[in-house]
Amino acid sequence: MKKTPRRVLIAGAGIAGLTAALAFAREGFETTVIERAARLTEIGAGLQLSPNATRILFRLGVLDRLLPVSTQPRAVMLRDAVTLALLAEVPLGAEAERRWKAPYLVLHRADLQAALVDAVKERPNIHLMLGATLEHVAFDEEGTVTAIGTGSGNSELRSHLLIGADGVWSVARHFVAGAARSRSSGKMAWRATVESGSPLAAVLPADSVSAFLHPAAHLIAYPMKAGGGINLAALMKGDVPSGSWSARPDTRPLTQATANWAPALACLPEKAGPWTAWPIHTVDPSGRWTDGRGIALIGDAAHAMTPFAAQGAAMAIEDAAVLASVAATVPDDLPQALVRYETLRRPRIRRAARRGAFNHFAWHASGPIALARNLVLKTRSPEKLAADLDWLYGWGAEI
Ligand SMILES: Cc1cc2nc3c(=O)[nH]c(=O)nc-3n(C[C@H](O)[C@H](O)[C@H](O)COP(=O)(O)OP(=O)(O)OC[C@H]3O[C@@H](n4cnc5c(N)ncnc54)[C@H](O)[C@@H]3O)c2cc1C
Repeated sequence: MKKTPRRVLIAGAGIAGLTAALAFAREGFETTVIERAARLTEIGAGLQLSPNATRILFRLGVLDRLLPVSTQPRAVMLRDAVTLALLAEVPLGAEAERRWKAPYLVLHRADLQAALVDAVKERPNIHLMLGATLEHVAFDEEGTVTAIGTGSGNSELRSHLLIGADGVWSVARHFVAGAARSRSSGKMAWRATVESGSPLAAVLPADSVSAFLHPAAHLIAYPMKAGGGINLAALMKGDVPSGSWSARPDTRPLTQATANWAPALACLPEKAGPWTAWPIHTVDPSGRWTDGRGIALIGDAAHAMTPFAAQGAAMAIEDAAVLASVAATVPDDLPQALVRYETLRRPRIRRAARRGAFNHFAWHASGPIALARNLVLKTRSPEKLAADLDWLYGWGAEI
């Protein structure tokens, strides 16, 4: 029987890969992370980190590093993008900590990455190799997985378990029988930052997450401590070339989608910026995430989802914690540990993805459906709206 390994190789040093490195190192595994990029530089964009994720980061010793560079928003406020009418408010801040026993944070992605890397560097049993790309995987009868790549100075790296944390366009996924493929969702994200004191931020509160709803697009705005700006992310139909944030895209589609919004918002496509654009690709969560020969996929590599529930990074963090935990608690049987990981994670990932699909439906609703949505939201107290999220934010990573 193939034993659960003590030597783990992780492809990808994004949020999933770095969290997995910390989680496995904490369980006593020897861990190597290979990252294609020569330097770790997250682009200038924000991230919402919900309590289900910050609870795990606390356990991994990362949360204390995040608090000084994060904001704890007071609430999430849903507004009509045309009238600016408040449709609903979900309390966060101290209420989130009381209710879900961990903070709800918004921060710059680069600050999360820096905190994870700092924690990784303090662990003698984690070896981080930058400029090393996974290209191919080979298996042998003794249960060794060999990752074959370029740029590492050591083109063959052996381990007992390869974790594919290499994002939505994963290479590791090609070596998992039955894995799903990534595909375009037909939607794209636009991103920009405005200075919080500027006239452009007049309707963008600096103490909350705002979601402005409209059938053609929705806009999320929240403060980022780093740089003192307000992070803007608009989601709508469309596509741009894959692979990286397109710098200086043609903003006309965004201008058109927001043309009849409240003037304080409709001016943002032209006056805020520079805007960048990103194609939203997803991976069907029904595909296989593990191969008993010794591969497990986590994060976007396994199940990239649309960002409508702001849960992709949180799910990646949860995956990392659960995989390390099952690998440690089923120590003598790697295939069984991998099956257990998939079995534990699949219902949760499906539910989070469904929540994103529901938000998309509700936030982009028009006509009578939008009217019904507004009525339902009006009858729901902030307490009830928060309670609806207990299953998501209250999750504790207990196995
Ligand atoms: C507009 C938008 C807003 C979002 N907002 C939120 C939010 O508020 N909250 C939230 O929880 N989630 C959010 N998400 C989702 C979140 O960004 C992703 O789910 C998360 O970043 C996935 O992390 P990952 O580590 O799995 O993948 P990635 O971040 O893609 O990291 C993969 C890493 O692997 C490396 N790599 C790739 N191929 C190879 C290879 N062959 N060999 C070695 N290394 C390789 C890459 O260079 C990269 O460093 C948002 C997504 C979008 C698009």
